[in-house]
Amino acid sequence: MNIAVLPGDGIGPEITAEAVKVLKALDLKFELEEAPVGGAAYEASGHPLPETTLRLAQSADAILFGAVGDWKYDKLDRPLRPEQAILGLRKHLGLFANFRPAICYEQLTHASSLKPELVAGLDILIIRELTGDIYFGQPRGRRTAVDGHFPGAEEAFDTMRYTRPEIERIAHVAFQAAQKRGKKVTSVDKANVLETFQFWKDVVTEVGQQYPDVALDHMYVDNAAMQLVKAPKRFDVVVTGNMFGDILSDEASMLTGSIGMLPSASLNDKKQGLYEPSHGSAPDIAGQGVANPLATILSAAMMLRFSLNQPEAADRIEAAVKAVLAQGLRTPDIHSPGTTRVGTREMGEAVLKALG
Ligand code: NAD
Repeated sequence: MNIAVLPGDGIGPEITAEAVKVLKALDLKFELEEAPVGGAAYEASGHPLPETTLRLAQSADAILFGAVGDWKYDKLDRPLRPEQAILGLRKHLGLFANFRPAICYEQLTHASSLKPELVAGLDILIIRELTGDIYFGQPRGRRTAVDGHFPGAEEAFDTMRYTRPEIERIAHVAFQAAQKRGKKVTSVDKANVLETFQFWKDVVTEVGQQYPDVALDHMYVDNAAMQLVKAPKRFDVVVTGNMFGDILSDEASMLTGSIGMLPSASLNDKKQGLYEPSHGSAPDIAGQGVANPLATILSAAMMLRFSLNQPEAADRIEAAVKAVLAQGLRTPDIHSPGTTRVGTREMGEAVLKALG
């Protein structure tokens, strides 16, 4: 099992180090190789995704990614900015399926801005298509309008599009994920207005016929945005396109109130995957030893489950995280009165101990 470790910028190296410690404590044989990415790689070699880092990632079974970015790189040309490293990895590895679980741990229900009874026990999985839709559709650009409300005016345009195979493969991923969970898929679209999403709905419905054990329903994206804050526990697996998924997965992550707790995975059709916390590089707290490493540790658990076929090891890590929360240990982002405030390293050590 070859794992490429790409710590990145800001709190990336601190939180990745804790996840690596946890992986090394399992009785499994890993080859772990580290490489720079993002701003750190730009500083070292002038590019956020150097050829050597890309090759390491391509040859690995899985990538453990910290985070990239810092405001100081905002003035760089777009292709040289740290965030381009993630886009490059997604593109070169064909990572089309983004998994974003939103889990509300019993001890952290108070961290949500919703009423505790709405989020207690919440466990939903948003699956976002990652390589198509209006974010990548051509043509796009700026031009002079020839029709519409203001012919002759300057305008900008993008193209929303999905091919049948793109929808089919993400639908299969969603139905198969649901088979391992609550056996329910909600496909989110805007079929009432958009041709692309009427097609999406038709294709998802067709694929669904191959999974008679999974219930399928369809929901317009505006209603899905409402339902996520009204009755989030009604969902099990939500599958949707790139743009709607971008927005809904961030909304869902906030239901739990603790961004430092949420892992994510992006997979290709060979189950090779990039595993990273849902949060960014948090430059405001970098180097202070206070960042929450649990999202990254839980990303390592997802890696064991989805790319490395080690579900028992994944269960062990997830149980250890629950145990440290039950012990009352909290990094500052999830701290509340009556609990014990710890730093990044102490939290990592506590998970190690709880692994048993
Ligand atoms: P952010 O997620 O880095 O931080 C938002 C807030 O959450 C900050 O107050 C931060 O301190 C806090 N936070 C985030 N992770 C935390 C953790 N593990 N423990 C405790 N607190 C945590 O988002 P931002 O501030 O908008 O972006 C900062 C940089 O990260 C930018 O350069 C942005 O482009 C980049 N970014 C990178 C990724 C990625 O690498 N996948 C994702 C989002 C943002």
